[in-house]
Amino acid sequence: MNDKVEAFGEFLSGRIPRHPEMVRRILALTYHLLSLQAWRFPSKKYGKAREYLQGYTAKVIGDMLQSPRNSAVVNIFMPCEIFHALNLRVTAPEALAVYVTNTACEQPFIKEAEANGAAETFCSFHRVLLGLAETGILRKPALIAHTTLACDANQLSFRRLEELWGCPRAVIDVPLDTSAEAVAFVAEQLEKLVPLAEEAAGRRLETDKLKEAVALSAESQAYFEKYLASRAKVHLPEAMTPELLNVINNHLYLGTKESEHANRLLCGDVSSAKPIGKRKKILWMHVLPNYQEEVKAIFQGETDVEVIGCDLAYDALVPMNPEKPFESMARRVVQSSYNGPGSRRIGETLRRARQMSADGVIIFCQWGCKQTQGLAYEAKKVFEANGFPTLVLDGDGCDRTNAATAQATTRASAFLEELREYLYV
Ligand code: SF4
Repeated sequence: MNDKVEAFGEFLSGRIPRHPEMVRRILALTYHLLSLQAWRFPSKKYGKAREYLQGYTAKVIGDMLQSPRNSAVVNIFMPCEIFHALNLRVTAPEALAVYVTNTACEQPFIKEAEANGAAETFCSFHRVLLGLAETGILRKPALIAHTTLACDANQLSFRRLEELWGCPRAVIDVPLDTSAEAVAFVAEQLEKLVPLAEEAAGRRLETDKLKEAVALSAESQAYFEKYLASRAKVHLPEAMTPELLNVINNHLYLGTKESEHANRLLCGDVSSAKPIGKRKKILWMHVLPNYQEEVKAIFQGETDVEVIGCDLAYDALVPMNPEKPFESMARRVVQSSYNGPGSRRIGETLRRARQMSADGVIIFCQWGCKQTQGLAYEAKKVFEANGFPTLVLDGDGCDRTNAATAQATTRASAFLEELREYLYV
């Protein structure tokens, strides 16, 4: 992280306890300026989709900090078409925490969450979210909504936020099986969520708008599948941040024109990119530590390895029918590769690894994330038995004091060295 960002983060961090209102305004302005920069003056170093999504995500977070009443705080797996059709903005712990960390001011929020009872072993994305709320930087939204899918941190942090903010909270219970009955059960809950969302938004949901949102989701996902079909053949200049943005886009923004536009831009980016050549192709599992410059440098720029995909960006590319909006949204959560036993997620990565002719897999074990830690070693065993060398990399997607950068770079470099030797024998 560069010195100017560090200094800015320090300036903000020191003022959070006594001047939270000022910090909130500065953060909102910063993200709005970042959005303006990415949209009006995009860097030629990066892909068009990356710049567009960077601009959109910064704008959404800036808007939410500035005026939270017209927004919903959700978890990453929550289908959001209902909210988009009601013109509610949405964000999730991962998106907020990654932006705050890249502004170098996550520490006071983590400490505030811990001072209010969050365990040090709790997922750091959720500790940042809790701290943002406890300090008053992130104020009461119109609604909280989350699923039970995959992430157990949701159950604790969103309940605490409901108490703190005093706003309605909806929980979508996702069965562990992927049957038609499970889809119908979730669809029914999503339909029942409508009156609550309407009340929170202060307007009625128009059926046509919801269908339009689901049609946009289907188009967005179709563009992403098209992008994936070409991704492994080309070299793109950057990996960590674009993959994180793809994760956010393929969950939170599905149902918006912006999501569809971004994934269309991705297809353009790969069609005009140079061939990947002899670079080693890595599939990534779970979140990516995009603030760790030393780790990023191993995978992008002048290097012979490239991250070509992240399982959290394509966990639920399932068929969607705008005429059946609730069923379509439900299918996306129920059939996500993150739902059910770990073997589903492992199987999906194996399928993609074969499809994209990956050379290796990295499983990123986010601090406090039991569901990824629980499957990591079984996944490694399965991938290696199928010819895909695998590294289990412990780390933290947003707490810079818990990053263990030297250890991560040493382990990643050693793995890549082995991979090179393995491939050359
Ligand atoms: S990293 Fe794991 S625990 Fe944290 S938000 Fe994501 S799924 Fe939940």
